[in-house]
Amino acid sequence: MGQERNYSGFANINHILEKLLIYFEKYKGIKDNISLAAWPGAKYIQYVVDNKKPYIPIFSHCDSNFHTYVLDLCGDIYACPDIIGRKEYSVGTFLPELSLESEKLRKWRNRTIFNLKSCLECNYAAICGGGCTLEAINKFNNPLHNFCIKSELKKILELLFDYYYDELFQ
Ligand code: SF4
Repeated sequence: MGQERNYSGFANINHILEKLLIYFEKYKGIKDNISLAAWPGAKYIQYVVDNKKPYIPIFSHCDSNFHTYVLDLCGDIYACPDIIGRKEYSVGTFLPELSLESEKLRKWRNRTIFNLKSCLECNYAAICGGGCTLEAINKFNNPLHNFCIKSELKKILELLFDYYYDELFQ
């Protein structure tokens, strides 16, 4: 918990998706049992395919930017479960007394595409939300920096548009 992640394998996610879509094609039944939610943007394409209506645009990356409070065993409060243990990023305490640090909390809750440099002008903003806060911290030591995976996102969308073309456009 709270350890920095190694992202060296991150560039391979599109390769894995490419392979997975080949298996989806080959073994028709399996796609109903495998979620593509781990691939940025994919769940929105799946939503449109499944529901035949547009998805709701997002303005932030995840629940840590809205309402998540995670309580650890030491009495500290965090906005994200994956950052537990890195006390400098806690947003308050619940023991010995409840206390929230509004400045630190604001960095998580105000993190929207409207506040992140370059995101507002980005074509992918409404399905990306500015990227993961934790990853921005790990890479830039700054929760108010975007974590941009635009090229990966572009490739994911191309793969999925290609795969779901008939369902999306017929
Ligand atoms: S792809 Fe990059 S620039 Fe675009 S919204 Fe996401 S983080 Fe911001």
